[in-house]
Amino acid sequence: MEDTFKHQGWRRQMVNQLRKRGIFGESVLSAMDKVPRHLFLETMLDHIAYEDKALPIKCGQTISQPSTVAFQSQLLDAQPEMKVLEVGTGSGYQTAVLCAMGLRVFTIERQKELYDLSKPRLQKLGFRAKCFLGDGYAGLPEYAPFDRIIITCGAPEVPPALLMQLKSDGVMVIPVGNEHQEMIRIEKHGEGENDVTIQKYGDCKFVPMLEKLNY
Ligand code: SAH
Repeated sequence: MEDTFKHQGWRRQMVNQLRKRGIFGESVLSAMDKVPRHLFLETMLDHIAYEDKALPIKCGQTISQPSTVAFQSQLLDAQPEMKVLEVGTGSGYQTAVLCAMGLRVFTIERQKELYDLSKPRLQKLGFRAKCFLGDGYAGLPEYAPFDRIIITCGAPEVPPALLMQLKSDGVMVIPVGNEHQEMIRIEKHGEGENDVTIQKYGDCKFVPMLEKLNY
């Protein structure tokens, strides 16, 4: 499959809708204009790839809806070249958006089947993220600290290891809760784990953040 004028047109409309719905970050909007979302989905979903919907991917997981990807990316408030950790690679779509924003992206996925699909997909499309098969609860201590951390699954609580791996002055965007989550933005001020500011951005619904790998 390729990126046709038809897909580019749908994508332009998606970006215009995001703008109307309050996404103002130009780097987020221009990244989402560049990433061909339909190439992160199965062919049969091609016709709805640019609607504002979460859609099924393998292993019972979902690709987040475009407005959620845009909102989380905007809350990160990242500058080009920053080091970002993403938990929950899934299809790789959010990963690609972060790459298109000029960030240095490290992404972890616990489902081997998804990791095996998204890693070559990102590479083929020219998005240079470093992909890892692992448990996001542990983060990536060998590559820490990170300027930004984004979690794309619903976490029962803020994983302490991830907060440790965030730089001082760093930002973490994480949906926290079990059945339903609240979108939380954490700004870390010093090295201490309690020296943080927490802002809440309303209810959301993600697939759960689960422990351990699934081979
Ligand atoms: N960002 C993805 C969203 C995928 S859904 C996209 O754009 O497609 C969330 C993903 O988080 C799922 O693929 C799920 O397997 C993964 N996940 C859940 N718990 C995890 C954990 N502890 N570590 C790493 N990935 C996890």
